[in-house]
Order: sequence, then structure tokens, then C-alpha cells
Amino acid sequence: MQDHLTKLLALSREIGRPDRQLAILGEGNTSTDLGDGTFLVKSSGSSLSNLDESGVSRVRMATVLAALDDETLDDSGVKSVLEASRADASPRLPSVETFMHAVCLGEGGAKWIGHCHAEAVMSVLCSTHGAKPFLSHIFPDAIVVCGRHVAVVPYIDPGLALAREVRRALREFRAAHGISPKVILLENHGPVALGSSDTEVLNILLMLDKWARVLGGTLAVGGPRFLPSAVSDRIDNRPDEHYRRAQIGKGAN
Ligand SMILES: [Zn+2]
Repeated sequence: MQDHLTKLLALSREIGRPDRQLAILGEGNTSTDLGDGTFLVKSSGSSLSNLDESGVSRVRMATVLAALDDETLDDSGVKSVLEASRADASPRLPSVETFMHAVCLGEGGAKWIGHCHAEAVMSVLCSTHGAKPFLSHIFPDAIVVCGRHVAVVPYIDPGLALAREVRRALREFRAAHGISPKVILLENHGPVALGSSDTEVLNILLMLDKWARVLGGTLAVGGPRFLPSAVSDRIDNRPDEHYRRAQIGKGAN
């Protein structure tokens, strides 16, 4: 667990770095699956930029996931679930987005999750276009790092309601594409990165941030010229891109 905790703190601080403009104050949260029925998730109210051990909760996956099917839970019921989900004696409550993290780790099959309120990505998600500009690609590296397709969730109340919609979106995505997404875009809210490693989560968020900035930049010079679907499919399936994807995941570029 210590290795996971050390990496989670490092990942969180990377996402929270002020110069990255991915999250400020208490925005965003991170998690990782410990593989023993529990996972580590940022506590409520702590900041990614200076997260330390006291700002991380270890919670039971089954307790959190069971809440998604309990339609009777109100706000105080949700708080009780979060209190009961803690696997260690900790005074801090896990983030209210713990439900979404459990879904992404459980149903999404990811080992590491990073969620933030990236300024450039939000500029698109909060626009009249919503997530639509991300449904087609504009350059190859976004396909390699962020995946051929992204999942989208329209705005909904953060917490349990959001987690239920994320679960629905993950199931729809898997039915359509046979795999889990690397990116879920929460409209009027922010992105979620689903990775097999801490490095992959950071890479996804950084590439998505660049993608959003390039999209914004294209609007100043006539608008984006989207790659044809067949070209994006080809890049997604090229053997050399598979190799590059594996190398990037190991920290190379
Ligand atoms: Zn958020």
C-alpha cells in the first residue's frame, strides 16, 4: 500500500501544480485500486497541489458501490455511507466523488483515476458546444494517448447522481466499443482520466489539456479541421502507434 500511497501523492501534486492550470484550491480528486477490495481516494476538502497522507482515505469498494443501487439515499444517507466506507480510523471523510471513483475503478477496469477541473478543457465543456468538439480528432497524439473515442456525461449533480450517470456511460461505451474509455468528459464540470498506471493518468490529462488548447486556438484561425473517421481509426490501429502507446505508458515519449 505504501508504494500506491507514495505514487498517489506524487500524481496528485503533479495534477495540482499551479502552472498546469488543471485544478486550484480543493478541485479535483485522485484514486488508486489496492486490489484487496479497498482503494485510496483523496479526502474531502484537501488540495491536490499539496496533498499529503492525512488527505487520503482508504475506503471499501463494496460499501461505496452498494450505495449506487440504493435509491432511498438522501444527502445525510450519502454522508453515512462515506463515513461507513472508511477502512481505517480516519477523521477525514472521503471525497463526495468517491462514488464516481469506485465506478471507474470497478466498472471501468482502471487501476488509477485522475479527475480535475482543467481550465482549457472546461472552456470547451462549458461552451455552447459541450463535449461535441472532442468527439472527432484533430491530431494523432490525442488518439494514441486519450483513446479513439471519449465517453461523455451531461451535467448532473456531483456525488451519487453523477456516479450513476458515469456508470451508465461506461456501460454504453463498453457496449459500443468493447473496451473502457481512457477519458470521460463531464460537461460543465471537467475531465476524468482512467489509467492502468499513475503515469498514464497524468499523460492522458496533459494530452487532453493540449487537445483542448489546440481546439481553442483553431477557433481563432477559422475553426478545427477534423481528421476523417477512417484516418483516426487507422492511427488507433497502427502497430507502430501501439508500440508508441506502450512506451509512453512507461514514461518515455
Ligand atoms: Zn469535479
